[in-house]
Amino acid sequence: MRLVLVGPPGAGKGTQAQFIAEHAAIPKISTGDIFRANVSQGTPLGVQAKAFMDRGDLVPDDVTIEMVRMRLLEDDAAGGFLLDGFPRTVPQAEVLDVMLRDNGTRLDVVLELVVDDDEVIRRLSGRRTCRTCNRIWHVDFDPPEQAGVCDVDGGELFQRDDDKAETIANRLAVYAESTAPLVAYYASRGVLIGIDATGPVDDVTERAIDALRPARSAEQAGRASGSGDRAGDDAGDGEPARP
Ligand SMILES: [Zn+2]
Repeated sequence: MRLVLVGPPGAGKGTQAQFIAEHAAIPKISTGDIFRANVSQGTPLGVQAKAFMDRGDLVPDDVTIEMVRMRLLEDDAAGGFLLDGFPRTVPQAEVLDVMLRDNGTRLDVVLELVVDDDEVIRRLSGRRTCRTCNRIWHVDFDPPEQAGVCDVDGGELFQRDDDKAETIANRLAVYAESTAPLVAYYASRGVLIGIDATGPVDDVTERAIDALRPARSAEQAGRASGSGDRAGDDAGDGEPARP
């Protein structure tokens, strides 16, 4: 399944992306992870991206697109992926369409997490990120066992610059201006599914999985009648085999 996850900052995209990708057995490809990898490796693209991210601004299209293009060429993305954080704009969406078409594929679903502004503000200011594994926790909605410490690896949790009060207003304005038209673009192409993303994390994940079920069934039916590249697939459990 080739899936894009969209929604305002603070909608819980990072957390939901992780759970949905695990459920669908596809890699989660987040621009945040791609940016951090490029920054920590000191690539020229990473150095450029960091200056923008530190101000809470969007990274310029050409830098972002090149990073995403390279990531989608990696082997684990050949059979499907969940994109989180890209595309953010209609021009980026058009570039993604071309990238996929060149590979003989297309997006199956764009899943929109719908949240109002008040909850966005509550959510953003409570986010904490693990310095070790980048997992995102939340002081109210998804707290670790011990405040300030990652359950997974004991890493220190910190508040990203993006999640601080001074950058929230900027992020919401950027979202309204550039990403909301993206939702209209995908709606017009018939691939958009919106879900209510308020409430407990587990409930939102369940809504997302329910919403994706028809697309997954259609894709699996398509593969079953396809070229047989999944020989040895055991039928019946509804879960895709790992390649
Ligand atoms: Zn961690």
